[in-house]
Amino acid sequence: MRIKVAVHGYGTIGKRVADAVKHQEDMKVIGVTKTKPDYEARLAIERGYELYAATPEKIEVFKNAGISVKGTIEDLIQEADIVVDCSPKKVGAENKAKYYEKAGIKAIFQGGEKKDVAEVSFNALANYEQAIERDYVRVVSCNTTGLVRLLYIINQNFGVNKVRATLIRRVVDPKDDKKGLVNNIMPDPITIPSHHGPDVQTVLDVDITTVAFKVPTTRMHVHSLNIELKQQAKPEDIIEALREEPRIMLVSYEDGFTSIAKIMEYAREIRTRSDLFENVIWKESIAIIDNELYLTQAIPQEAIVIPENIDAIRAMFNIASKEESMRLTNETLGIGKLYS
Ligand code: NAD
Repeated sequence: MRIKVAVHGYGTIGKRVADAVKHQEDMKVIGVTKTKPDYEARLAIERGYELYAATPEKIEVFKNAGISVKGTIEDLIQEADIVVDCSPKKVGAENKAKYYEKAGIKAIFQGGEKKDVAEVSFNALANYEQAIERDYVRVVSCNTTGLVRLLYIINQNFGVNKVRATLIRRVVDPKDDKKGLVNNIMPDPITIPSHHGPDVQTVLDVDITTVAFKVPTTRMHVHSLNIELKQQAKPEDIIEALREEPRIMLVSYEDGFTSIAKIMEYAREIRTRSDLFENVIWKESIAIIDNELYLTQAIPQEAIVIPENIDAIRAMFNIASKEESMRLTNETLGIGKLYS
């Protein structure tokens, strides 16, 4: 029997979650919601998803636009086993109180929500087991997912004393046209630590301090990391450990990956919507100086959290072990077939 998944908020994350669920044999999308009858609503229908109004009062708006919806979020969750909430930051917590608790339905929230929205903050590699049979799970944000994946592997293999990370953040996603940053670099936040370090600590017990800046690009985030190791290691040892994990993509500057522009150009050739689900790490950036690991990674913000949403569903219904779930997700999304 397939798990019936509702996607609440068919936006940047929602449409990618829906498509990823579609690729799985043990779950299916039974409906997605939209607030507006715009081109994305029409796209959802064209892709074969049943469309529902995100809020009850919007039914009329869809009717007037000539788009037929099957009902509202309240109707959708009656039919579903789980809802993946992909609504904007902070709206997920409101939806929990308004709909999910009342309906007694399991829910996954995204990284824009505070950690207390859920019982567990989740990353498949680091704490899959903690999400087993839970009702509410939060998949941490794109930056946090990128940091946790990497630090989990380094900690498992070499031990980590402390981490210092500088995050160069894309200002908005490519589709956003309401705000941006022109010819500018903005410390965001100006205070230290940025919220990313404490967010990593909701999943992984590690000493980490983060500093963050926004820059005028929509393509990817870039992280510059210094990691003080417990055990001695050489750059080759680090590369070998990272190569073992399919959700890490090791690229080489020598090979032409001279910037995030080249990484995204490659992604456009090989993936639908140029979705990269992996941390992208430059091999040449890996250096060890006085037993401190230096490394630069690029984080594809729109897609990196998608495999984690799929694994969270399996964990919450306890239908697969961590290894089995990650293997299935990787296989169906084509993860691990790229550079290493
Ligand atoms: P988005 O704005 O692209 O999509 C949000 C969708 O929710 C839109 O379709 C919007 O119409 C809909 N919506 C608006 N109000 C709603 C409501 N009351 N109920 C249900 N749906 C509603 O946003 P996004 O980028 O997909 O972000 C969604 C969540 O994912 C946020 O928590 C965000 O922090 C997190 N996240 C975003 C990214 C990213 O880079 N975009 C990465 C990781 C995590």
